[in-house]
Amino acid sequence: MTTSAMPLLAMALRVEHDIFVVRQRGREVAAAVGLEHQDQVRIATALSEVARDLLRAVGGADVTFAVTADADDGRQHLRIDLAPVGPLPGGRYEPQSGAVARLVDRLDMVVGKGDTVVRMSRRVPVTAQALTPERLAELRAALGESAPGSALDELTAQNQQLIAALDEVRSQRDELAVLNEELAETNRGVMALYNQLTEELEETNRGVVALYGELDEKSAQLRAASESKSRFLANVSHELRAPVTAIIGLGRLLADSSSDPLTAEQARQVGLIRSSAADLLALVNELLDLAKAESGRIEPDWTEVDLRPVFGQLRGTLRALATRPEVELVVEEPPAPAVLRTDEVLLAQVLRNLLHNGLKFTERGEVRLRAERRGDRWQLTVSDTGPGIPAELHERIFEEFYQVPGKTRVGGTGLGLPYARRLVTLLGGSLDLASEPGRGSTFTVSLPVDGA
Ligand code: ADP
Repeated sequence: MTTSAMPLLAMALRVEHDIFVVRQRGREVAAAVGLEHQDQVRIATALSEVARDLLRAVGGADVTFAVTADADDGRQHLRIDLAPVGPLPGGRYEPQSGAVARLVDRLDMVVGKGDTVVRMSRRVPVTAQALTPERLAELRAALGESAPGSALDELTAQNQQLIAALDEVRSQRDELAVLNEELAETNRGVMALYNQLTEELEETNRGVVALYGELDEKSAQLRAASESKSRFLANVSHELRAPVTAIIGLGRLLADSSSDPLTAEQARQVGLIRSSAADLLALVNELLDLAKAESGRIEPDWTEVDLRPVFGQLRGTLRALATRPEVELVVEEPPAPAVLRTDEVLLAQVLRNLLHNGLKFTERGEVRLRAERRGDRWQLTVSDTGPGIPAELHERIFEEFYQVPGKTRVGGTGLGLPYARRLVTLLGGSLDLASEPGRGSTFTVSLPVDGA
């Protein structure tokens, strides 16, 4: 919507010659309201095109020039209305040249109270001298006085404009050529960079592939080494078992009451031989177990296991080991339902091992086993009030043969924990330790409820 305003200039378009006049006046008005030279030419050109169209179609129009304020943005526009003197064919106006509409901001047909006008408008730049009502009145007066020039004058002006326009087109074309050249240059640069990057990427890829190859080879070697270690351990242990068992048997025979009686010293020595042989047999058995677990020859027997009977059994069998009166063995009742999918024998073996360690190393207080359901896992914790383990050894005690130096080095082989961790891993879980010297230790077996 625009506010109506008093026209700056009004004129009639009736004959061919008027087209020149309309064009010339249009340019003058455009200049007067502060439009730039380019815009003046645009307005004048659009105006003469529309004027020609209307003259041919309906024999003429009444032309009015005005400055109006746009209701939407409050900006001032130069508005030119051409009211046709007769009805437009089909009641519509289409410019003959489609390019005309692009010369102005708006070009459309406006139907008002009974009259139809073709209206074009172009925004007036804000930098122009302010178009106050007083200024507009001045312009109106000035335009009224200035007489329109001849068709020749207008033709001359038009020629000059044409030359200027052509000049501009040429300079734009030159600019475009320079830009094109620059673009081609940039493209060449980008292509060179792209090629270089591609090459570097290929190089890197080749390096990565080679590295992977090396890595594969190394892990194959590592696997082979680990396998031969397990094989060696298994073979040696197996070979040792028969003679050690024989020594134990012979010791038992020697000490038997039906054999020849031994002197007290002989009996003591035979006792030493027997207990050393029993230790050796325990070591050999543990080595065999570990070798078996490492070689992947242990296949868990997956079943639904109820923790309550398992805990009950551990309570019974380990009570015999809890010989110190200052240490209490507490096996808590697991919260029902305490069922998970696992291998019962292997799980019991792990828990027995941890409880056994707790009882072995704890001098007073308690060793406690408890089960807790955490989401889709069961957490089985064995905690004790024993000497505890320094943080820097938390991982080392899971290495084969490692034993914490000092007081806790009581018997044992250093194979129990690595074996326990192997088994828990086989069961799809993890075995971790939380401990501090003087504050006891807590071993946590975490197992998935539905197996591996
Ligand atoms: P072993 O008990 O036969 O020596 P393990 O592998 O079971 O072998 O344990 C390794 C070492 O970890 C033990 O020698 C001991 O020093 C330490 N350890 C294990 N359990 C405990 C515990 N509950 N409290 C303190 N130290 C422990």
